Amino acid sequence: MTRVAARLQPFGTTIFAEMTALANKHGAVNLAQGFPDFDGPEAAKAAAKAAIDAGEAQYARMSGVPKLNQAVAGAFAGRTGLAIDPDAHVTITSGCTEAIAATFLGLINPGDEVILFEPFYDSYRACVAMAGARPRFVTLRPGARVGGKGFGFDPDELRRAFTDKTRAILVNTPHNPTGKVFTRAELELIAGLCRDLNVMAITDEVYEHLTYDASKPHVSLASMPGMFDRTVTLSSVGKSFSLTGWKIGWAIAPPTLTAGVRAAHQFLTFATATPLQHGAAAIIANPGAAVREYVDLFRRNRDVLSSALRELGFRVYDAEGTYFIMADHTEVSRRLGVTGDRGLCAAMIEKYGVAAIPPSVFYENQEHGRSLVRFTYCKKAATIDEAIRRLERMRTA
Ligand code: GLN
Repeated sequence: MTRVAARLQPFGTTIFAEMTALANKHGAVNLAQGFPDFDGPEAAKAAAKAAIDAGEAQYARMSGVPKLNQAVAGAFAGRTGLAIDPDAHVTITSGCTEAIAATFLGLINPGDEVILFEPFYDSYRACVAMAGARPRFVTLRPGARVGGKGFGFDPDELRRAFTDKTRAILVNTPHNPTGKVFTRAELELIAGLCRDLNVMAITDEVYEHLTYDASKPHVSLASMPGMFDRTVTLSSVGKSFSLTGWKIGWAIAPPTLTAGVRAAHQFLTFATATPLQHGAAAIIANPGAAVREYVDLFRRNRDVLSSALRELGFRVYDAEGTYFIMADHTEVSRRLGVTGDRGLCAAMIEKYGVAAIPPSVFYENQEHGRSLVRFTYCKKAATIDEAIRRLERMRTA
């Protein structure tokens, strides 16, 4: 009999741990878990090493090493035009995952409703449960966006999700796993509902720098009229600087909401690794060419992988940001004689040596994800090319 607490029993082991273990077991190219197979920027490493050598070995300030709060505030203010106070508005956390947990535990009451777009990143659903709240879902559907081919939502479905119990809506843009970048018009609709119904917004913007199309820029919900005072903006260095293992993230929010984030953060981790905060501060303050180089590499990988998958019979949905592609595998699975997203992913790992994520775990009604598969392309160009070479063997299946 399991001893796992009832509120966490439904979630099992995350799909990322499961698929990476399987990829390692079968020697597969790992296009499942989203982490780069190359090192982060030298300048970040040098600053972290210097901090260790300088004896930065004790607890950091609970809300963050002041230099890092300043760097985060400066970057966000620069991008949005908002006036950000590094000490009053920014809280440094152990990755964005902790920031999400601290936001839910510190600001959501049992019985509150929280709106999530599905497919959703798996930790949101678990954090709603840990906070004792109730999720409501708005489904992103391929081709549902007016005038576009990407994923979109039905405005009426969104309106219906708001009730008198709604405490917050979580918006992840650029969006994992679909690669969607929410448009200004979509964000305006969300902002209007939040303002009218006095609802808080929580935004996960960890892919904020990873957009590939100048006509589809990333927009922060907090920068829209009347939204800063009701929004908690979350991000990290993990994706932007290819430092996923550093686990340095943050929450930016007005003092009223920051109080809730810190109320939980002080008891979750209190503070996060001091030398790595120094390293993160250095690279955020002076990113140099780092982000640009990653964006160029990822754009190339997205294009090459998308067209290879299309040739193999996948229906690939246009991805404007993040480092993920979603594709419909119906035709490929029929050819291979496998069923469902898990069937396809098992066959790809075992027979073709390429791992991907079965996205049904990102849906409340898992049926909605069964015909889909998610690939990541945050890898060296050579790794993507090798994965394509392996997948080409599906042609003759
Ligand atoms: N965010 C990464 C992804 O979506 C993985 C995060 C994790 O492993 N928990 O692939």
